[in-house]
This record gives sequence, structure tokens and C-alpha cells, in this order.
Amino acid sequence: MNKVAIITGASRGIGKGIALKFAKNGYDVVINYIGKEEDVLEAKEECEAFGNKVMTYNADVTDYEAVDKMVKAVVEELGRVDVLVNNSGITKDTLILKMDTKTFTDVIDVNLVGTFNTIKAVSRTMMKQRSGVIINMASVVGITGNVGQANYAASKAGVIALTKTVAKEYASRHIRANAIAPGFIKTNMTAVLSDTAKENILSNIPLKEMGEVEDVANLAYFLASDEAKYITGQVIHVDGGMVM
Ligand code: NAP
Repeated sequence: MNKVAIITGASRGIGKGIALKFAKNGYDVVINYIGKEEDVLEAKEECEAFGNKVMTYNADVTDYEAVDKMVKAVVEELGRVDVLVNNSGITKDTLILKMDTKTFTDVIDVNLVGTFNTIKAVSRTMMKQRSGVIINMASVVGITGNVGQANYAASKAGVIALTKTVAKEYASRHIRANAIAPGFIKTNMTAVLSDTAKENILSNIPLKEMGEVEDVANLAYFLASDEAKYITGQVIHVDGGMVM
């Protein structure tokens, strides 16, 4: 039986890259998404090309009931959950003085509450298995803060604290939890930045280039593997040296 990995927000961007990496290396993958079914077809077909099982599941991570149903459907169809990658994330950037409460909480809801919901939903299954790996997508701005990103930075700082708590609460069940803190990775999320903003960012990156989706996917795959069996509660940067 293959190992099973659930990746949230995997229809595109970093999540899709992670799904491809796991599918290519022998995992059955679950591609979670919230958009339209046609938006997930490309990711599904690309993953299926590697010959392992691919399940797509539409569930909003902010809705605990929906996420819980997803995990139950995964266990029924694929038999287990070895890896959970909490990748779903949104930004709604603006300065604090212009940010209304809803703009703040919308981002907290997807990035932080969504991460909590999926962790809670897989908990019983992983505890029964007495094994599991949880990987949460944080960000370097969860460590540094960032102008115009009070909501996003706070959500990612929360993800880091949540990861460390999960690592402590679940260690005795042989469940590991780590966070990945990407810097600037080429995806839709960063495509919206102006050329000037990109140039400013690049000038602060020692390696002088933006990261690729694969750079993050490679780390997620390593953290899920037994090669990382003694690593838990850590925040690992994939940022070209931007934050040291
Ligand atoms: P992206 O291209 O915008 O993709 C975000 C994904 O999240 C999409 O698949 C989206 O689904 C999904 N999503 C949004 N709201 C959701 C919800 N309520 N429930 C389930 N899924 C939801 O973003 P990305 O750049 O790949 O980023 C992926 C993760 O890395 C995020 O957590 C982000 O904060 C983090 N990150 C990215 C960068 C970067 O430079 N790109 C840097 C640091 C951290 P739909 O397609 O269905 O809308």
C-alpha cells in the first residue's frame, strides 16, 4: 500500500508542486481545492501521469465540518493519512490604518484557523496509526513582520506557534510537525507584485533570485521522509538567505 499525502490548496502554485513531488515519488495524493472542478484537472492529470492514486476533494479549510468529511473520505478510499501539508493561504494586503477587521480576520481564518482545522481533522487517524507527518506553510514574514501585511504576518506567526505546539503535543504518538518558511517564490501570489517591488525584494536576497515551487516541494518531501525522522518543531526557511 502506498503512503498517502493530503495537500491543501494544491490546484496550483506551491501546493501543486508539492502534490507532483509526492505523486512522482510513490505517494497516493489528495489534492484539496476550493475553486471550480475544471481548475483542478490539470494538477490531477499531471499527478496521475506518475501512476499512483490521485483523489481531488473540494473543501474550504475554514469549514471544520467540510475538512473532517474530507479526511473521512480519504481514509475510506485510500486507507490512511501519512502526511498532511497545510499549504492553503491567501493575502489581503493593506496598511493597518486602512485594514478593516474583516480583512484581518479573513486572512487569519484561511491561513491559521484553516491549518488548525485540518490538523484537528487528521489527528485521530494519525494517533491510531501512531505515525504521521504534518507540514505547515508559514512564511518569512511570520518571523520578520511586513509593512502592509499585518493580517498575513500575524497568521503565519500563528502557524509557527501552532506547529511547535503540535510537535510537543503529538511527539509521544510519533507524529512530527514542522513549518516551512518560504521567502519569495514564483507563483500567482507573487506575480501581482510590481517590477519595482520585485527589484526591491531581490536586492535583499543574497542569492539574488526568486525561488521556484520545486525548491519548497523538495523540502516538504524531505521533511515527510524518514530521513527527517529526528526533526520536529522546526521552522525551515526556503528564502535564498533573505532572513538569517
Ligand atoms: P497561490 O498560488 O495563491 O495558491 C494558494 C492556494 O490556496 C490555492 O490552491 C487556493 O485554492 C488555496 N486556497 C485559498 N483559500 C482556500 C481555502 N479557504 N480552502 C482551501 N484552499 C484554499 O499561493 P502560493 O504562492 O502557491 O502559496 C502557497 C502557500 O505558501 C500559502 O500558504 C502562502 O502563504 C505560502 N507562501 C508563499 C510564498 C510565495 O512567495 N509564493 C511565500 C511565503 C509563503 P484555489 O486555487 O481553489 O483558489
